[in-house]
Amino acid sequence: MTALLGFGFVSGATHVVAKSETFYSISRKYGVPVSSLMAYNKVSDPRTLKLGQKIRIPSKSSAVKVTPSQVRKVTPKAMRVIIDPGHGGKDRGALWGGVAEADLNMRVARKVEAILKARGYQVTMTRRSDVFLSLSKRAEIANRYRNVVFVSIHFNATKYTSVRGAETFYTGEKGRYLASAIQRELIRKLKVKNRGVRFSRFAVLRQTVCPAVLVECGFISNSYERSRCKTSGYQDLTAQAIVSGIERYDRAF
Ligand SMILES: [Zn+2]
Repeated sequence: MTALLGFGFVSGATHVVAKSETFYSISRKYGVPVSSLMAYNKVSDPRTLKLGQKIRIPSKSSAVKVTPSQVRKVTPKAMRVIIDPGHGGKDRGALWGGVAEADLNMRVARKVEAILKARGYQVTMTRRSDVFLSLSKRAEIANRYRNVVFVSIHFNATKYTSVRGAETFYTGEKGRYLASAIQRELIRKLKVKNRGVRFSRFAVLRQTVCPAVLVECGFISNSYERSRCKTSGYQDLTAQAIVSGIERYDRAF
């Protein structure tokens, strides 16, 4: 139910900032705590309010749910993360036991995106749907931005079906740091075989200017590992590991 507050405004509405208004005065007007108002609008500095700016007003029920720790979580981060779900469209990637790599990559990528956004990161996906995208197009998207890292998400396969585990490829020194951070978290969270981090000249890594890594989250050619990779539990842990690695990198640089 939507509560009708004073001044004829309905909660959950948008407020246009008038002259001399502050976050404090707006919060008083709608009876919403300043901290909730800031968190709801993803604002870390209350002094950035501008005349004519549109402020979204949380309903009172959602306002009380915001705790100080949640406010901290949505503090905007300066770094942008380019998430690249490998393959797509006519390129299915590896195909084993009815599992298409392109689909697994997208599922993990979307989870990574959601967690990163909740942590305040800016995220760009190279693809959002099941379309084909060339490797140079993927790199070109990353090269539009400054202060970014590029994370390409894949699952592995080989004719040697006993092979399993996770590995992360990189280019450059910063790329190696990011790869190591992600790889460590993958092993810790997924308890899979550690195939290590490796330097690579994959086109998608070579053509990106920013620190770039390619994560191979598991072998779908190994029946045991494939059965794990298919589960949303494994995909969730993989996404969490990738995000933890990115955060570790972000704190270091
Ligand atoms: Zn792949």
